[in-house]
This record gives sequence, structure tokens and C-alpha cells, in this order.
Amino acid sequence: MSRGLPAAGRLVALALLALLAGCGRPAADEETRHRFMAMGTLVDVTVFGTPPAAAEQAAREVETLFHALHAAWNPWGDGELGRLNEALASGQPAAPGEDLRALLAEAAALSEASGGLFDPTLGPLVLLWGFASEENRPAAPPSAEDIAARLSRRVALETLLRPDGRVAGPPGVQLDLGAFLKGVAVDRAIELLRAHGIEHAIVNAGGDLRAIGRRGDRPWRVGIRAARDPAGVAAAIEIAADEAVFTSGDYERYFEYQGHRYHHVLDPRSGYPSEGIASVTVLNRDAGRADAGATALMVAGPEDWPAAAAALGLEAVMVILADGRAELTPAMQPRLRFTDEAQARGARVRPLP
Ligand code: AMP
Ligand code: MG
Repeated sequence: MSRGLPAAGRLVALALLALLAGCGRPAADEETRHRFMAMGTLVDVTVFGTPPAAAEQAAREVETLFHALHAAWNPWGDGELGRLNEALASGQPAAPGEDLRALLAEAAALSEASGGLFDPTLGPLVLLWGFASEENRPAAPPSAEDIAARLSRRVALETLLRPDGRVAGPPGVQLDLGAFLKGVAVDRAIELLRAHGIEHAIVNAGGDLRAIGRRGDRPWRVGIRAARDPAGVAAAIEIAADEAVFTSGDYERYFEYQGHRYHHVLDPRSGYPSEGIASVTVLNRDAGRADAGATALMVAGPEDWPAAAAALGLEAVMVILADGRAELTPAMQPRLRFTDEAQARGARVRPLP
């Protein structure tokens, strides 16, 4: 499978983000930065206004947290979600721990609010398409029969969650929380930093991030990647005191077959990759909601994304359509500065219903 951003492109993009974040920096010694790879992406923890030794210690704990969450919640590994999937595959009920139960309940609520567009039970379909692992490189789309067979195994997540805390369903159900987990991890990382007394920080996981506080006398400022230009920044956003910015895009993981791009966000109604939208960027206080929401709005498509945003309680959204035009909610418009003048002029404001 080809990745939308080659390693070099990613680094350039991250350097650009760093540059944007670096505007107006007063004292170098007040900023501490810790970088690591986790969940298949480069994670950057930036802390401002905390003595470097304490900031570094907290950032290292964030790294440990990311690795622990990845191990526990990897659907295809031997952690807790992997074991739950193994039980579900054979139709056995399972009793996940409190943490995973709470996570599933949260995912179920978001899935319901999205009308099933964000669907954590798409595991078998994600596997079939070959988007479950970085190593696997699909060469062609699966057959329509196989897609239909996987779709018939879908069930609404909320129906699997029993009042006694157990999770059970028909054999073959497989949960994949990949559209939501990075957001949850970022939220938990921010909680951890706060528990260390840190008030000003960004946790940036490959361009998806949450920021708290300020960068000295200025708000944090971040760049949003351009969908069709891996090294480019489409727009800049100034973050209010505590906000997350998450983007879902058709350039993150995809392959091309006979001139068509097949990407990793799947439409549960058709079983095929979603169409019409290149990327969705959501600004929200809750990174988990922003992450699941960005994925759901990709699936909702060019006509229906405002209705899906309203149903999910998302106010500030930017959509880049497949043809490159931008659409914004009224709440997002004043927050953005486009890099490209033409895109800024062509942007259309879509009120939420
Ligand atoms: P994201 O990058 O947050 O949009 O998440 C995409 C990942 O979520 C994919 O790689 C799949 O593992 C999974 N996924 C794909 N389509 C959906 C969907 N409609 N609902 C929930 N998860 C999905
Ligand atoms: Mg997502």
C-alpha cells in the first residue's frame, strides 16, 4: 500500500508545523520538546513555561502512555482489544476491563450520533481491503461478493454492549477503533500533562493535535496539511485556550488501481471508500469526538456533512472537496487563514442545519 506522505514529505510537513508553532517564541529555554514514534505516526509533545527537566519527565510518560494504549487497543494484536476480537470472532461473550468498556460505550454513543457513519464494527471490512496494517500492500480492490459478505456481518456497536458489562454478538464481529483512538490517546496525554501541573502544551500526533494554554504571550498556532500537496500547509489556525484539531483524509492511506484512488475511510453503506471529500478538519474541545467526527464527515459526503456535523455536536469544520474547493462552517471561517489566496476566495460557508 502506498502512503500519501513519504517519510521525507512527512518530515517537511512536520517542520512546517513546527515553524508555524514557533512564531513569536520568547525564550527558548521555556520550551521543551519530546518526539517519538507511536501508533504508526510521529508524535510531538511540546511544553511551554515548565522547567525542562519536569517537562521532559512528563513528556516521557506521554510516550509510555501512547505505547500502552496502542498495545491494549490494537484490534489485531494480543492486547485487550485483540483478545476481545478473538472471542467475538467465535461468537463467545467477553468481559473487558472497565477502561475498555468505557471506551466502547463512548465509541457507541458517537457511532449512534453519526447515524452509523462512524462504525467501529467495520473490522472485517477494513481487513478485507488490506488497510489493517502498514505492511500489507493491497494491489486491487476486493470482489463485490466479499465486500457484501463482510457488510452483512455489521452490527450496531451499542447492541453488543450488555448491561452486565459483557460484550457479545453474532460470530465474526470484529471491532476496529482506529478512527477514534488517536483522539482518545491525545486527550489522555493532555490529562497526564495537566496532572503534572503543566498548563501550556501541544500533543501533536502526525498533524492531529490538542493544545492547552498559550505559547507565552500568544495563542498556539498550527498548520493544517494540504490534501494534495504532502509538503504544503493549507491553512493556519490559532488555538483557543483548549482545543483539538483533527483531520481525516483520503491521502493518509491508499492505493491506486486502474487510475482510481482507494483510500482507508470506508463507507459502511456501500463497503467502498467514501467519495467526494478529500479531507475533513474538525476543531473541538474533545479530541476523541474530533477524531471520530472527522472520519464520519468524510463518509457523510459533500451533501450531507453539515447534517452529520450538527448531529455530532461539531461546530467548527473545514471540508476540502475532491476537486480542491473548501467549505467551512460559520464557526470555522473566522478561525482560519488560508495559505492559498485562490482557495481562500473560493471557500464556501455552509451553515449547519
Ligand atoms: P481516520 O484516519 O481517523 O479517519 O481513521 C481511519 C481508520 O478507521 C481506517 O484506517 C480504519 O481502520 C477505520 N475506519 C475506516 N472507515 C471507518 C468508518 N466508516 N467508521 C469507523 N472506522 C473506520
Ligand atoms: Mg478519525
